[in-house]
Amino acid sequence: MLGGRLPPDCRETDGDARPPFSFLCSPPTELIIFHPVSPKKRIAIIPGDGIGPEVIAEAVKVVQASRAGVEMTHFDWSANRYLADGVTVPPDGFAMLERDFDAILLGAFGDPRVPSNIHAKEILLGMRFRMDLYANVRPVRLLDASLCPLKGVEPRDIDFVVVRENTEGVYVDAGGVFKTGTPDEVAVQEDINTRKGVERVVRYAFEYCERHKKHDGAPRQRVLMCDKSNAMTYAGGLWQRVFKEVGREYPQITSQHMYVDALCTQMVRDPRQFDVIVTNNMFGDIITDLAAGLQGGLGMAASGNIHPGKTSMFEPVHGSAPPIAGKNIANPLGAILTSAMMLAHLGLTREAEEIEAVVLEAVRQKKTTQDIGGSLGTREAGEWVAKRVAG
Ligand code: ATP
Repeated sequence: MLGGRLPPDCRETDGDARPPFSFLCSPPTELIIFHPVSPKKRIAIIPGDGIGPEVIAEAVKVVQASRAGVEMTHFDWSANRYLADGVTVPPDGFAMLERDFDAILLGAFGDPRVPSNIHAKEILLGMRFRMDLYANVRPVRLLDASLCPLKGVEPRDIDFVVVRENTEGVYVDAGGVFKTGTPDEVAVQEDINTRKGVERVVRYAFEYCERHKKHDGAPRQRVLMCDKSNAMTYAGGLWQRVFKEVGREYPQITSQHMYVDALCTQMVRDPRQFDVIVTNNMFGDIITDLAAGLQGGLGMAASGNIHPGKTSMFEPVHGSAPPIAGKNIANPLGAILTSAMMLAHLGLTREAEEIEAVVLEAVRQKKTTQDIGGSLGTREAGEWVAKRVAG
């Protein structure tokens, strides 16, 4: 990010009504303004593997069509690059991204030619962990009733956000195996939860709830913490205590709790009840795939990996989907909505809203790929959106 480090309690502002790179800090109340060196936002594009390059190409087209003030630089970090020269992340790659870019737009990683998935781990998890992108924000919004497998559900009924902890939990890869391959084999996978890590993501969820309205303009009013604290008592206990403590700072927001198994049932029985959900890394990963099913499948879901005040990364929720790669059938709308999310994060609200409006129109007119009922290819669906965004 431009202009140096932020005090730890700084919060990113909404971006629209204020100058770029301004942060409200409390206490004391203070406005810090970071002056960008270039008026254009600098975006690193890392398409990755499988359908990643296909859908990111369409997202890039749409961003260009919006005439947003951005400069995009492509990077080839991927399975192809790893197989060619053994490099996953070039030396100082993450430091370079933080130093030289305002945001990162990522495709997906995973390729059958790299069974260890080492490049995906080092690039994607490396970026989340080393750049400390602690809040994985996954909006779940139904654009059209036809996309939802549930009966009688309208777009206004599904408009919630999952905030997934992104730097801890079982994904830190702590643990080990002992006596591998023998009948006495032992495998231990540690679930790491720190007070700092839990507190900042829970606070992020309350801040998000306070600052972001629903798409119909209604305020968000509830934050629900989801865990499995009845069985995982140590980690769950920490989440419970921290959630109660942070919740007291936001008396205007209703704090709720649900065990993850109950939440899965409720998500398909009555998704209307959800507003903002905060949860750990693994539960967030799983429940957002379920949630993607409510909005038309993985091809429709967008996400941001955010550390307020630092270079953040945006990626569609889906993976590299090898079985459908290279066939021009992948749905590009999740990636396009992800690019809109990124523009909104950068303060380019008008362009972001315009892109979202055209995606909505594409869904209504079925100018989409087959997975959501259209008959277009990936490129054609992307071009349809880009053309209308260009006006
Ligand atoms: P990861 O573990 O990396 O998240 P995954 O194994 O869970 O990946 P995906 O790669 O996301 O799974 O894809 C699973 C399936 O979902 C694909 O094989 C495909 O059928 C469908 N899918 C995913 N993304 C899309 C898309 N953009 N358009 C259409 N179908 C998709």
